[in-house]
Amino acid sequence: MKVRDPVCKMEIDAEKAAATSEYQGKKFYFCAPGCKAAFDKDPARYVGQ
Ligand SMILES: [Zn+2]
Repeated sequence: MKVRDPVCKMEIDAEKAAATSEYQGKKFYFCAPGCKAAFDKDPARYVGQ
Protein backbone atom coordinates (compact mmCIF):
# COMPACT_ATOMS: atom_id res chain seq x y z
CA MET A 1 0.00 0.00 0.00
CA LYS A 2 1.36 3.38 -1.00
CA VAL A 3 0.97 6.16 1.53
CA ARG A 4 2.19 9.72 1.79
CA ASP A 5 4.45 10.90 4.55
CA PRO A 6 2.60 14.02 5.79
CA VAL A 7 5.80 15.74 6.88
CA CYS A 8 8.05 15.55 3.82
CA LYS A 9 5.26 14.57 1.36
CA MET A 10 7.26 11.63 0.11
CA GLU A 11 5.34 8.63 -1.15
CA ILE A 12 6.34 5.50 0.71
CA ASP A 13 5.36 1.87 1.07
CA ALA A 14 3.30 1.40 4.25
CA GLU A 15 5.06 -1.88 5.06
CA LYS A 16 8.46 -0.24 4.77
CA ALA A 17 7.63 2.85 6.80
CA ALA A 18 10.35 3.67 9.34
CA ALA A 19 7.77 4.88 11.84
CA THR A 20 4.04 5.25 12.29
CA SER A 21 1.87 7.47 14.41
CA GLU A 22 -1.81 7.80 15.20
CA TYR A 23 -3.65 11.06 15.31
CA GLN A 24 -7.41 11.59 15.58
CA GLY A 25 -7.97 7.88 14.96
CA LYS A 26 -5.99 7.88 11.72
CA LYS A 27 -2.71 6.19 11.10
CA PHE A 28 0.17 8.05 9.50
CA TYR A 29 3.35 6.63 8.04
CA PHE A 30 6.79 8.17 7.96
CA CYS A 31 9.92 7.62 5.91
CA ALA A 32 12.19 8.27 8.89
CA PRO A 33 12.03 8.62 12.68
CA GLY A 34 12.78 12.32 12.27
CA CYS A 35 9.58 12.83 10.30
CA LYS A 36 7.56 11.08 13.01
CA ALA A 37 9.19 13.25 15.67
CA ALA A 38 8.26 16.41 13.75
CA PHE A 39 4.70 15.15 13.30
CA ASP A 40 4.25 14.16 16.95
CA LYS A 41 5.43 17.59 18.03
CA ASP A 42 2.74 19.41 16.07
CA PRO A 43 0.38 17.04 14.21
CA ALA A 44 -2.22 19.70 13.42
CA ARG A 45 0.34 21.47 11.27
CA TYR A 46 0.62 18.46 8.95
CA VAL A 47 -2.97 17.24 8.90
CA GLY A 48 -5.46 19.13 6.79
CA GLN A 49 -8.95 19.72 8.11
ZN1 LIG B 1 9.54 11.84 5.62
